[in-house]
Amino acid sequence: MNLVLLGAPGAGKGTQAQKLTAEFGFAHISTGDLLRSAIAAGTPLGLEAKEYVTSGQLVPDELVLSLLKERLASDDVEAGFILDGYPRNTAQAVTLDSVLSEMGKSLDAALLVSVDAAVIIDRLSRRRSCKECGFTGNDTMDACPRCGGEMYRRDDDDPAAIQTRLDTYASKTAPLVEYFKGQDKLVEVDGEGDADDIYVNVKKVLGL
Ligand code: AMP
Repeated sequence: MNLVLLGAPGAGKGTQAQKLTAEFGFAHISTGDLLRSAIAAGTPLGLEAKEYVTSGQLVPDELVLSLLKERLASDDVEAGFILDGYPRNTAQAVTLDSVLSEMGKSLDAALLVSVDAAVIIDRLSRRRSCKECGFTGNDTMDACPRCGGEMYRRDDDDPAAIQTRLDTYASKTAPLVEYFKGQDKLVEVDGEGDADDIYVNVKKVLGL
């Protein structure tokens, strides 16, 4: 299954993607993770992207596209993939369609994880991520429950960047809901509540 995850930052896309990956072996492709790795490694692309990511703005399309294309060329994509954080605007959605069709692939569904804005702000301000494996947790965790790595607060999970990211989501990314509805690919789950309960619904709407 080839899937796109849609939803505001903090909606729980990454958590649901991690669960789907663990159970079904899909490749989890998070453009945010790819960008954070490039920034941490100090690559030329990472240096160019850093300012945007830290302030919560979208990185220019061509930079993200080059990371995405490289990742889509990996063998593990053959088992199916979950795009988490891409596309973020209509131009990226159109590009994705053509990149996939060049590879002889297409999307099966776009899953919208819907969460109320107040819940998002609370979740993002309490969110902590693992430095080693990228696991997403919260401020009650001293060490990563998956690999024991150090948990930290992402630079863009501070209040000013959170607001910028939510505004960007509303103006640039939310219109993709209509885009995927138009392709008859949109499915939706309520993203509030316990992550395991949400996962049961995710599998139901995806027919897994
Ligand atoms: P995320 O981990 O998906 O919340 O992404 C973190 C940050 O990486 C975003 O706020 C953007 O600065 C950048 N980013 C991730 N994916 C994209 C994308 N598809 N297009 C542009 N910027 C992106």
